[in-house]
Amino acid sequence: MSLYQTPTKHSDSIRRPACDMCGMQMMLACIDFDIPDHEQRTFECLRCRNREFVVVKLK
Ligand SMILES: [Zn+2]
Repeated sequence: MSLYQTPTKHSDSIRRPACDMCGMQMMLACIDFDIPDHEQRTFECLRCRNREFVVVKLK
């Protein structure tokens, strides 16, 4: 069993935030599982390269 899911498969269910810098909807760049029972989603703005990290607790 693999915990890893590709961003494209996953992104359907993820609401992407708007960029703080320019307001454009950000793209899900990658998902990391550095913390047990959590996933860290990295969002990247394609316009200004601003990055945001969202840590989500998995059940
Ligand atoms: Zn931006």
